[in-house]
Amino acid sequence: MKTVNFVRMTLPAKSVNVAYARVAAAALASQVDPTIEQMADIKTAVSEAVTNAIVHAYRGQEGGLVYITMRLMEDGSFIVSVRDRGCGIGDVRQAREPCFTTAPSEERSGMGFSIMEAFMDKLQVRSAPGRGTTVTMTKRLGR
Ligand code: ATP
Ligand code: MG
Repeated sequence: MKTVNFVRMTLPAKSVNVAYARVAAAALASQVDPTIEQMADIKTAVSEAVTNAIVHAYRGQEGGLVYITMRLMEDGSFIVSVRDRGCGIGDVRQAREPCFTTAPSEERSGMGFSIMEAFMDKLQVRSAPGRGTTVTMTKRLGR
């Protein structure tokens, strides 16, 4: 499948950058005439993935980076990957369960991955403890 357009960004893992990533995703997706609902879904899913990289991956570490690649494909699909070089996830299957969180005391509800899965067509999570996590999501856009 051919890539029609793409954006790659590297951002410090700081909460101010969640909004930046969300807006960038919306700006790229808007090039293929998505519905309002599809735009909202992408913004929400990207926010969840980037937030995870910020709050979980680099817990207690300074200077962490989040690497985001977004692609528009020839068939109208939007593919986004959010990568960090943080702590990684030991058990990805468990982490993806609804309501599973390792941060209940911070009022996390454990719904991030469930939201990404519900709002996008495809969710892939690759992770290695101590090396980092890559979350890749795909959504078909258009009416
Ligand atoms: P919520 O998203 O509802 O605020 P949450 O972030 O805990 O809560 P999920 O987004 O579903 O819930 O993530 C589940 C768990 O997976 C997290 O609690 C955390 O332990 C782990 N996790 C998710 N993303 C990462 C990441 N990038 N690096 C390390 N651990 C992660
Ligand atoms: Mg989360």
